[in-house]
Amino acid sequence: MYGRKRVLVTGGAGFLGSFLCERLLGEGCEVICVDNYFTGSRENIVHLLDNPYFEVIRHDITFPLYVEVDEIYNLACPASPIHYQFDPVQTVKTSVHGAINILGLAKRVKAKVFQASTSEVYGDPSIHPQTEGYWGNVNPIGPRACYDEGKRCAETLFFDYHRQYRLNIRVARIFNTYGPRMHPQDGRVVSNFIVQALRGEPVTLYGDGSQTRSFCYVEDLIEGFVRLMAAPDDVIGPINLGNPGEFTIRQLAELVIDMTGSKSEMVFKPLPQDDPTQRRPDISRAKEKLDWEPTVPLKEGLARTIAYFERKLPEWEG
Ligand code: NAD
Ligand code: UDP
Ligand code: UDP
Repeated sequence: MYGRKRVLVTGGAGFLGSFLCERLLGEGCEVICVDNYFTGSRENIVHLLDNPYFEVIRHDITFPLYVEVDEIYNLACPASPIHYQFDPVQTVKTSVHGAINILGLAKRVKAKVFQASTSEVYGDPSIHPQTEGYWGNVNPIGPRACYDEGKRCAETLFFDYHRQYRLNIRVARIFNTYGPRMHPQDGRVVSNFIVQALRGEPVTLYGDGSQTRSFCYVEDLIEGFVRLMAAPDDVIGPINLGNPGEFTIRQLAELVIDMTGSKSEMVFKPLPQDDPTQRRPDISRAKEKLDWEPTVPLKEGLARTIAYFERKLPEWEG
């Protein structure tokens, strides 16, 4: 290879994608960001637009894409339940047709290709914490299935392209990740709670708030992405990336209210159908194969995220 490494990031204008583009540009790569702006925005990448090695293409990955690159990170897909359930058929198409196009592209140009999979492949898990060997407990016809089954099928496609065409693949199963640049109306729990607390509005707990999640700070996650991509060719995954610190949603609400000094009350709303009751990654494989583990504790990551929303809210609210 001559010159800079050329890297394609699909979903590059989204929350995780924008951090990844920034990191790759910082490492001297030439980055092509592809996004249809369904949940992402130019605002997330505006600070990168002056970089001559950054190129943005408005494109929907359910349609074929022809570019010449050395590596591909496939992140395009709405990630928040309200957004992936808005047009469930498009969500399945993005995961499945999108994966076929990206894999076809990787095959043609012989690029290494990374899939942003998810802890949702484990569904409402009956083993705890979740190891990569667990096959999951997913309702195939429920409201979350467009996302969960789409991502499961994408993993199948990645492994079949690997077996059938010797494609160099990497599959990361990402657990709940948070940080600056989450969309204020994203609907995910960390951004919802922070925005509600800062506005002094009621903090909405779904169910009784006893369900658990494990929250990873965005920069820790991106470090895991880059290490997995750079790992030896026999390290293809799937590999869990997430922070093993586990909290109930109620604990998270109390922490956010406390850290923002808010007077918000907690209110309880119905638990969405098929909402997983517990989730925590077993990251032994990432530790062993990538020498990776998260370094930012929840309190510190929340402080950085709260500072971002405190700065941005007055701007958005004009
Ligand atoms: P996000 O919604 O902020 O980003 C997704 C990006 O993909 C957006 O910019 C969106 O406009 C774009 N996109 C959607 N459909 C597209 C299409 N058909 N063609 C082109 N672009 C399209 O979400 P995120 O949190 O940054 O998630 C990025 C990836 O990581 C997703 O694949 C998601 O499933 C996965 N993931 C995220 C988390 C998390 O906690 N953030 C957890 C598990 C998996
Ligand atoms: N594809 C693409 N860009 C490329 C090469 C392929 O978008 O550079 C798409 C192509 O449209 C096809 C898909 O990827 O539908 C799968 O390609 P593959 O070569 O695996 O299958 P085939 O073309 O034989 O259907
Ligand atoms: N949740 C909540 N209040 C909100 C948003 C989410 O109690 O305003 C709950 C949701 O029901 C789930 C957890 O928080 O149990 C995490 O939700 P999120 O949408 O962030 O991610 P996912 O369910 O995909 O893990």
